[in-house]
Amino acid sequence: MLLRWHLFLGAIFTFLFWILAPTINKAYLILLFAPSFLMGIDYARRGKSKIHHGKGFLHTIEVQIILAFLSLVITPLLYLFLGMIFHFFLDLGYDLYSDNLSKRDFFLYSILVSKG
Ligand SMILES: [Zn+2]
Repeated sequence: MLLRWHLFLGAIFTFLFWILAPTINKAYLILLFAPSFLMGIDYARRGKSKIHHGKGFLHTIEVQIILAFLSLVITPLLYLFLGMIFHFFLDLGYDLYSDNLSKRDFFLYSILVSKG
């Protein structure tokens, strides 16, 4: 999915979250929105910044699971996790829609093996 769509949909997601919980700490809203563009960094480093879909380290299921467990004890990570999950499912939906889904893209092991 293109980065601009991640930014647009991430902003809407963050805004809706703010509407539902108006007293939320603004720093948490930033953590919720940050994955909209930060998750593309590992992918952009490989020189593919224009087209962005789930092929980076931060997009892997293993990273999501570790962050989910850490968010149980570190509250700010919960909002980062929610933002990353939103980003992750946007990529998943886009790949399903464009018939470009490869389960290898979403596992850390596959990425490590393909680099070697
Ligand atoms: Zn992505």
